[in-house]
Amino acid sequence: MKKFGSGGKNMREMIDKILITEDEISKRVAELGKELEKEYGDRELVVIGILKGSVTFMSDLIRHIDKPILVDYMAASSYEGSESTGHIKISKDITVPIKGKDVLIVEDIIDTGNTLSHIIELFKEREARSVKTITLLTKPSRRQKNVEVEYIGFEIPDYFVVGYGLDYNQIGRNLPFVGVLKEEYYK
Ligand code: 5GP
Repeated sequence: MKKFGSGGKNMREMIDKILITEDEISKRVAELGKELEKEYGDRELVVIGILKGSVTFMSDLIRHIDKPILVDYMAASSYEGSESTGHIKISKDITVPIKGKDVLIVEDIIDTGNTLSHIIELFKEREARSVKTITLLTKPSRRQKNVEVEYIGFEIPDYFVVGYGLDYNQIGRNLPFVGVLKEEYYK
């Protein structure tokens, strides 16, 4: 990866193509929020965002759920660069107790499914009443683990994408759309 800001380029000039526009994202996120509001009704819901990629999605999503919910974040990753190592590391745990509660995991993208399968297992061990998952993006062609994902924003082909929370080596999270980085930035 070239140094951030090299060549005086702004973020948009680093993108090859936009896969999902800002408008498409905001419409879909609103739909998903309303679906969740209906689904959980008056049950106590703990919404847990997986840092850092889910932050943008999570912050938009929860504003479409017009119910009292609890919000927390966990930092868990199984990635180095752009390929999975097959390991998970929890560097920040939740502080809200989840025993007996309905838990909704918020992910940015499900790729191999390794990270998510570990997290679901962990929350079940902690005796959550139910554990479901919502993800902005999924790449079904890359799946290694057969994990159930109840709510999906968009299915995408096998591109490495950035934007709307997703990064490449920590860069690109602040783009308002989901796009594919130009090859020169990661080759
Ligand atoms: P999994 O464990 O499902 O293979 O990986 C999930 C995590 O890998 C995501 O939360 C994300 O951090 C990272 N990841 C997988 N595919 C992509 C991608 O296309 N772009 C970005 N930025 N991260 C990805």
